[in-house]
Amino acid sequence: MTAEIIAIGTELLLGDILNTNAQYLSRQLADMGISVYYQSVVGDNVDRLEKTIQNAMNRSSIIITTGGLGPTTDDLSKETIAKVLDLPLEEHEESKQRIIDIFNKMGKQMSSNNLKQAFIPKGAIVLDNDNGTAPGFIAKTENNIIIVLPGPPNEMVPMFEDKVKKELNKLNEGVIYSETLKLCGIGESKVAQLLEDVIENQSNPTIAPYAKNGEVHLRITAKTSDETVAIKLINEMKEKVSNVVGEYIYTSDDKTLEETLVSILQEKDLTLSIAESCTGGLLSGRIINCSGVSSVYKEGFITYSNEAKKKYLDVREDTLDKYGAVSEETAREMVEGLINNCKTSTAIAVTGIAGPTGGDEDKPVGLVYIGVYYNGNITVKRCNFSGNRQKIRDRAVVEGLIMLWNEVK
Ligand code: ATP
Repeated sequence: MTAEIIAIGTELLLGDILNTNAQYLSRQLADMGISVYYQSVVGDNVDRLEKTIQNAMNRSSIIITTGGLGPTTDDLSKETIAKVLDLPLEEHEESKQRIIDIFNKMGKQMSSNNLKQAFIPKGAIVLDNDNGTAPGFIAKTENNIIIVLPGPPNEMVPMFEDKVKKELNKLNEGVIYSETLKLCGIGESKVAQLLEDVIENQSNPTIAPYAKNGEVHLRITAKTSDETVAIKLINEMKEKVSNVVGEYIYTSDDKTLEETLVSILQEKDLTLSIAESCTGGLLSGRIINCSGVSSVYKEGFITYSNEAKKKYLDVREDTLDKYGAVSEETAREMVEGLINNCKTSTAIAVTGIAGPTGGDEDKPVGLVYIGVYYNGNITVKRCNFSGNRQKIRDRAVVEGLIMLWNEVK
């Protein structure tokens, strides 16, 4: 079984919106063991859409479209697909009632073209839309399954999760089970190199590394006829992988790095304070994104200027004069300032040059010092990040999280 994704909408072609639907669907299908061989984007144009669908039907068994199910005249997905499949559109009474109810609930006047959304190709399975007016549908032909979904991600994703997955699982022989191991503090190529034997000899389960925001994720996917067997295969693979790169794995759950760190701090009854110069609050922002963080996070300072570093963190003037704001010594004193002023059990301080200006030969753009404190020890690391201002700041944040995770794990 191979699948193809067609995203419909002129906005996508103009670059006004990003095709996150294709990314989401590709990831989901990969997790289900269904290979996606093609993705395309087509505007709201009947001829081109017709050709795209016909092409897709000739080369892929499952076709998933998103978008173009709206009430306006440029929303043509359904009409075009019905035409290609040579099926008449029929009014679906339940969907019509749902649309009327939605408008009544909102207290809004419904225009007659809204009811256009209740028309579905004859014989198709209707997918109720719990988050909008346009129902989706699944039409089956001798060789193809065409799954038609709305464009807005907040409608498309729940429809896929709750309704389409079930249908696809029925077609998919066997159970697909997949887990992701998340690693940090190591690059993708190093992971691939260390796991070369495991990756080259993979068949079931399969294992695929991919880099993500300064981390490496390893997706392990097993396909069997029985869930218990799939879980056993995955666990065996997890053990093999852990034997090689275990020290870098921070979770096998859905958790982010900061959530993992916050959980550890909570479990160990530790507190955290943060001082940031070049990251200007980004690090605190990521930590505070985690729910329940109030038991952990004490205080944060954005000490961008030298004055602020002196005022809030007691960084000494002669340290700044002698070594500069971006230096190991300043990072260390920033951490000491946090320990003394916040009475915290863990701390992170970041100072660096995010660029594009401000660098020189001795201290180039991307030079960042990160200091962490735990258990009576301060560790300061000199990092050289590349990329633009945003990327350097993001990498510094990830590195700060990794450094503290390494200390407290
Ligand atoms: P509606 O019922 O709201 O009219 P629709 O099924 O007709 O939905 P479109 O009109 O094609 O969908 O798109 C509506 C909105 O959904 C877009 O403005 C965009 O915000 C979002 N959207 C559509 N397609 C995609 C996509 N491929 N990726 C991400 N977002 C999308």
